[in-house]
Amino acid sequence: MKAFRRYAREQRAARLVDLPVPTPGENEVLLRVAHCGICGSDLHAWLNHKGYEAVLPEVTFGHEFSATVVDTGSSVSNWKANEQAVMIALQTPHDDNDPYCAMGLPQLSSRRRVQGLHLDGGMAEYVCVEEEFLLPIPKGLDLELAALTEPLSVAEHCIGNRTSIGSDDLVIVSGPGIIGLLCAISARSRGAEVIITGTERDETTRLTAARTLGFETLVVGPGHPPPSPTDHRLFS
Ligand SMILES: [Zn+2]
Repeated sequence: MKAFRRYAREQRAARLVDLPVPTPGENEVLLRVAHCGICGSDLHAWLNHKGYEAVLPEVTFGHEFSATVVDTGSSVSNWKANEQAVMIALQTPHDDNDPYCAMGLPQLSSRRRVQGLHLDGGMAEYVCVEEEFLLPIPKGLDLELAALTEPLSVAEHCIGNRTSIGSDDLVIVSGPGIIGLLCAISARSRGAEVIITGTERDETTRLTAARTLGFETLVVGPGHPPPSPTDHRLFS
């Protein structure tokens, strides 16, 4: 199978390689990848940036993907061939003795790992994932859209779990990257009015994407006066 794989702990040291299709371990599911996104952290890892020292020197990238089940390990009970799944990227295998697992916050455990940085991920034709880190894709949801589940979960956690944003709110999203755009979509889906801000550099690309999605945009930064205090939506 083809895989996009890092081969050394150096800048840009990754390439398309041929690998054998992996065999699922007893608690693993073998998946055929449909679509895989490129995360900002994939770029940081590819460029060997500071803070990414824990990324394996040899690893297949990719943690934002949708896939179809091909085969299952001997102890897997909840998945069957042809079912569709997305992966939970930030993984802490459950352990009753881990205080973070007991608190329901496994993502804070020092045992956490990201599949696609610390073990082989989904920029490949096939990938094995432990059963406990798979979620079913609802019937009828397009696989290309489903590949956005992981970044959307970041936005949903921000808007849905950490705010009470609703239909009376005006929301300003500062930064039109993918997480900013998904936060804007999440806030709009709750009825809020949303303005997305960016710098001049964003104008022809990311702010254009924001307008394509139907959002009002605002360029901020040097040379751009701050919003007028008479704008009653912003200053009421
Ligand atoms: Zn990501």
